[in-house]
Amino acid sequence: MSDIKEITKRILKLRDERDWKQFHTPKDMALSLVLEATEVMEHFQWKTREEVEEYIKTHKDEVGEELADVLYWVLLMCHDLDIDIYEASLKKMEKSKKKYPVEKFKGRADKYDKL
Ligand SMILES: [Mg+2]
Repeated sequence: MSDIKEITKRILKLRDERDWKQFHTPKDMALSLVLEATEVMEHFQWKTREEVEEYIKTHKDEVGEELADVLYWVLLMCHDLDIDIYEASLKKMEKSKKKYPVEKFKGRADKYDKL
C-alpha cells in the first residue's frame, strides 16, 4: 500500500471513530484546508528569510503538524470526492512542465502568461 493510501486509511479511521463524516461537506472541508494553510503561514508571518532559517530549527515539529493538518484535509477531500491525488499530482506536474518549459523559465519566477 502506498504511503498516501495508508495515511488516508488512518485519517478515515480517525474520522469514522468520531462520526465526523456528517460534518464534512466539500465546502467545509475546503474551508478547513485553507484555515489549516493559514496556520502554516502564521509561523512565517513577519519573519525575514534569515529569521525563518533560525525559527525552523526549533519549530520543525509545530510547522510539521500544521502541514499534516493541511494534508489531512487534502486527503479527506480526495477520498470523499473520489479523486486519486497521486494521479492528479502526476497529471498536474506534466501540465506545469509544459506551461513552464525549462528553457524559458529556469531561474525565473515569472508567471507563464507574463513572460
Ligand atoms: Mg492546525
